[in-house]
Amino acid sequence: MSNVTRLPGPIAEVWDWQRNGACRGRDSAQFFHPDGERGASRARRESAAKAVCITCPVRAECAAHALAAKEPYGVWGGFTETERIRLLAAGWEDAAERGRYRVDVRRLEARLGLPARLMSGAPSAGLAAQHRRSTRRPMTRVPVTMR
Ligand code: SF4
Repeated sequence: MSNVTRLPGPIAEVWDWQRNGACRGRDSAQFFHPDGERGASRARRESAAKAVCITCPVRAECAAHALAAKEPYGVWGGFTETERIRLLAAGWEDAAERGRYRVDVRRLEARLGLPARLMSGAPSAGLAAQHRRSTRRPMTRVPVTMR
């Protein structure tokens, strides 16, 4: 279960990043595993979700949120739930900016020993804009405090 007591209050600027997520309008099933999913199926789905995250202009904010809230499920900020457990155990706050609303995702990826091909680069402006324009479905990953 997410730990919402660690999250900031309902301050619009703090949560605004969610409106620019590259996953906005996408099927959330790509980011959250169905019951019983394991092995190669899970690895493929997570890899596809991470590929979206790598293009995301708000990845640093998303990863900070997931770590601060201890989001138990899904891919957030390009990190799987297993990777976030490792980061929570190893420590992540030293990679966070003041206020803990953003993290240095490259530093955290390095801490996990992720291969360079998974390292994020600058978000593709074209892809990010394309995702921002997508309004097929509202983002369904709104934290409990915003409902
Ligand atoms: S980093 Fe990934 S999960 Fe987070 S908002 Fe961006 S695309 Fe969505």
